[in-house]
Amino acid sequence: MTETNNHYQIVIIGSGPAGFTAAIYAARGGARTALLGGIAPGGQLLLTTEIENYPGFIDPMVGADLMERMLKQAKRLGAEVFTEDAVSVDLSVRPFAVTTAFGRVYTAEALIAATGARARWTGLPSEQKFIGKGVSGCATCDGFFYRGREVCVIGGGDTAVEDALFLTKFASKVYMVHRRDKLRANFRLQEKLRKNPKIEMIYDSVLDEVQGDDRVKAARIKNMKTGLTRVLPTPGVFIAIGYDPATGVFKGKLKTDDSSYIVTDDRARASVEGVFAAGDIIDPFYKQAIVAAGSGCKAAMEALKYLEEIKK
Ligand code: NAP
Repeated sequence: MTETNNHYQIVIIGSGPAGFTAAIYAARGGARTALLGGIAPGGQLLLTTEIENYPGFIDPMVGADLMERMLKQAKRLGAEVFTEDAVSVDLSVRPFAVTTAFGRVYTAEALIAATGARARWTGLPSEQKFIGKGVSGCATCDGFFYRGREVCVIGGGDTAVEDALFLTKFASKVYMVHRRDKLRANFRLQEKLRKNPKIEMIYDSVLDEVQGDDRVKAARIKNMKTGLTRVLPTPGVFIAIGYDPATGVFKGKLKTDDSSYIVTDDRARASVEGVFAAGDIIDPFYKQAIVAAGSGCKAAMEALKYLEEIKK
């Protein structure tokens, strides 16, 4: 592939609902479009189980299937999808330059940042030590390994409850540890949680230490109100305490807010002209596939408008 072939009118980085929707609109809008989707295109929805709130699908949808459909739709409309990770971007040159982990350079007249978000960790040294050895940020990926065992989930939002429910398919028991006495998760998930006899709720408590030798053996938790600790005899600790924006590649190159989300105006424009951003990378509030898809659409429409303007 020559450098010339790697020039696109629009390059999209990221392959969640925002990236694919942007690709669908950009390609359908007539722009030569590339999407750099990473080694496993699909974003966070690859890690979810069932999606039942994405409009248009009467029955629950498996996240990976929805993403596969978006990928095929983007390709059918002419977007070129590359399974490469962008490792650096140069926004000081025109066209913009994006270098991937394979050392290829893609150039772009307009760029859409849609790299999403990634799971947050508590930051406890013992948690970090056991990541991949019993501490996991992905119940969908690792739940299978805990057939017949007791596991614990840390968190009280939608993800934590979904994870706890999913893990009951394998585990003999799931402890769900939440730092407050009220869950953040939506009502429907809470209903399912209450009805599941395998889940024991532990409120007002945080993860205090992960214990083990070469693998996790237990989790010590601490009640925030009483200060009392309790040791849960579990080889699996699932952390589900939210997400942080995956802005690494744009660090120092685009304006971000205090929480590292990329700042855009109401027309999806980031701080460098010709760069647009969409999806969880700009969204500290909703983090819904449908919202990400909508913002991907906006970013692509604005990018197409921008291409028209620079042609004049
Ligand atoms: P979230 O809504 O931000 O919830 C994070 C949870 O972790 C909260 O309960 C929070 O406690 C707790 N937490 C945060 N930091 C902590 C720490 N250091 N130690 C202990 N606990 C901590 O994150 P999420 O559940 O991942 O959901 C993210 C977004 O995706 C939400 O908008 C959610 O609606 C959406 N989502 C939707 C679905 C669905 O619709 N099916 C599924 C998954 C996610 P506090 O409650 O005390 O803040």
